[in-house]
Amino acid sequence: MLPSVSVLFVEDSGVEKNRILEALKKHFTIEIHALAATTDEFHELLTGRHWDMVVTEEYLSKTDAFEILDIINASGREIPVFVFSAYSDVRGAVECVRRGAADFRTKDDIIGLMDSVKTLLSRKKVLKENAEEYEKELLIDIIEESRDFIFLIDEKTLKFRYVNRAVIEKTGYSFGELRNMTPVDLVRNLSAEVLRERLSGVADGEQDRIVLFTEIISKTGEIHQSEATVQLVYRKNESLFYARLEDLSEKIRTHENAMRMMQVVEYSTSGIFVTEKDGTITYANPKLHRQTGFSEKDIIGSNINVIKSVLDDSGEYERIWSTVLSGRRWAGRTKSKTRDGGEIEVLSFVSPIRNSKGEITNLAFFDEDATLANEMKMQLIHAQKMETLGELAGGIAHDFNNVLTAVGGFAGVISRKLKDRKDVSYLADKLVELAESGRSLTQGLLGYSRKQEQEFRIIDADRTVRKVTDIISLVFPEDIVIDVETECGGARIRAIESQIEQILLNLANNARDAMPDGGLLTVSASKSLSGKSVLIRIGDTGTGMPADVLANIFKPFFTTKSEGKGTGLGLAIVKDLMDSHGAKIFCESVLGQGTVFTLEFPLIDIDEISFAAATADSLVKLSGSVVVIDDDPGVREGIETMLSEFGYRAVCFDGYPSMYNKLEYLGEVSIAVIDMVLADSGSVMAAEALLEKYGNLPIIYMTGYDDESLRGKGIITEGKAIIKKPVFAHSLLKAMAEAMQEKSVSDR
Ligand code: ADP
Ligand code: MG
Repeated sequence: MLPSVSVLFVEDSGVEKNRILEALKKHFTIEIHALAATTDEFHELLTGRHWDMVVTEEYLSKTDAFEILDIINASGREIPVFVFSAYSDVRGAVECVRRGAADFRTKDDIIGLMDSVKTLLSRKKVLKENAEEYEKELLIDIIEESRDFIFLIDEKTLKFRYVNRAVIEKTGYSFGELRNMTPVDLVRNLSAEVLRERLSGVADGEQDRIVLFTEIISKTGEIHQSEATVQLVYRKNESLFYARLEDLSEKIRTHENAMRMMQVVEYSTSGIFVTEKDGTITYANPKLHRQTGFSEKDIIGSNINVIKSVLDDSGEYERIWSTVLSGRRWAGRTKSKTRDGGEIEVLSFVSPIRNSKGEITNLAFFDEDATLANEMKMQLIHAQKMETLGELAGGIAHDFNNVLTAVGGFAGVISRKLKDRKDVSYLADKLVELAESGRSLTQGLLGYSRKQEQEFRIIDADRTVRKVTDIISLVFPEDIVIDVETECGGARIRAIESQIEQILLNLANNARDAMPDGGLLTVSASKSLSGKSVLIRIGDTGTGMPADVLANIFKPFFTTKSEGKGTGLGLAIVKDLMDSHGAKIFCESVLGQGTVFTLEFPLIDIDEISFAAATADSLVKLSGSVVVIDDDPGVREGIETMLSEFGYRAVCFDGYPSMYNKLEYLGEVSIAVIDMVLADSGSVMAAEALLEKYGNLPIIYMTGYDDESLRGKGIITEGKAIIKKPVFAHSLLKAMAEAMQEKSVSDR
């Protein structure tokens, strides 16, 4: 059997390789062979496997035998290198042998080459049995595969003589590029002088090694923070710096993550503690100390039964432990002891903690205060009950409304028929009146039971106040006199109307509760003195509040009322809603005299006419018409009027189907204004149909929803021109001007 060898060729074309390979096959089994044409390819192939020999041409277009020999020498490998040349180049041959080449032959001397390969490899075979050789190769492989950066640096020129694979991968430079670089090119803020200065200790032999903090900059500008250890080494009569850099970036990141996690645990609102598998407590967060009153000294190092009472006697302890040690989470109610000898009920979540090998080493307890959780649950049940009741009431109100309509109608007929009998017709008129007020009451109820729209609109402050006080006056006890003054003169605010109603009702209910024996309720809406805001006031002549109550009224669950009467949520919700309106709430109260709540909303300036006049000369000129699609006839009409006032022609449709049917008759169109949320995703189809016919037609979308609700509906807003409803002339004109501007840019 022929001995087997692996051969690495370095050559441009591969022609010589095949010739030599054929010759080699007569004497050896070729285990593996490969061809490199550049320094980088050679370096890549060289690392990571064993080669018995390298056969290289003397001069190649991208590298040469001298460089190949340098790389092998620098890498510490002892691979015989056979150089073949097109010429009998004596000086080249001497240089190659000086650099450790095994032989130098001209191309026509294949027989000579074979002879020296045979003699050398048979000698090597003996060496191969030598364990030292294998160990050395192993070490070289370890260096190659190391995640650390390893450099051999020429002591004189400071050029990199050798780098391992990690350097190439992490810096993004090729081996060839790196061989022409020095540390100055790779390390941030480093000059040659400083480098020399830093290395002088090891260069002079005064220091065995030095350790430096460096920042390596990759080709793409990425920074690797690393710790470099530099030593001086000798190889074949020359001295080199050997530098090993440990990349710290990952370590730093891991550390930062751990720090962040630690903060989450420290500031958590759950009481968290960690135990060993035997129940010894090793960590507790500040919240746990607060929850139980135990200090660190009291519990760290103690057994879990110091803080968990129920766990000693019931089978709970075993259950938790067996669940968690089998890798699952446990959740349930447990009781925690407190330092003063009491007990608190908590919801516990217990998770296994694993080490890097995946073994469960600890248990982590997350204790939620169950008393608070209980309270929240009660509130939820209450809210849910109210909602159900509301739905029911809504259903009844509807039918009741019809009944009242009929009653009123019949009573009206009676009144007319008995016109002459004043005594009876008077009663019938009273019936009509009562049925009417009954109707507005149920109408109000209907309004509340319906799922309320959550849209911000521009609303008339006076009107909303009137609406609420109308309902209040129907349902409040008679001994409460209601005085309403609305004098905003049509001033508008930006608000979600149903929420303003909810706010006013909450405040009115509190006022009623504060006047159990009757009194005066004043509700007013007016402009502030500065004229910049709208003030709504609700005042009562009730009990008033002492300072310690007044300080807490907006806190959730704060109530002075008996159970079942108050939830303590009313004012908390009011405050929340006011905040979301960007509005302010104040409360003044005098004990024994009464209370006044003041709501302050920014006034919306909608002097449209003057705005339009100011922008009129910057109006865009459109040669075609404006297509308007909206399913609300009011909106269509409003926009049509607006557009015609400014000299545009509008063509309106109530949806995609009607627009599609007319599409082929539509003449020139310059722009489209489409409601973003048409039924059956009509807006998308309408836009597509228009774009298909009119190419790059500017489209403006109208919507009353905020971005989040749109996203919730799966509607994409990015890259679209959007105006908010209600649509005002100035915003529409501005959007049109911008859309046309954009089109003219993209047309160019
Ligand atoms: P609830 O009405 O359920 O008690 P609220 O948040 O609406 O909850 O009110 C919290 C507390 O503020 C009330 O319990 C009461 O003590 C006080 N309060 C609110 N409004 C008034 C008022 N107009 N007059 C007197 N006290 C009031
Ligand atoms: Mg209340």
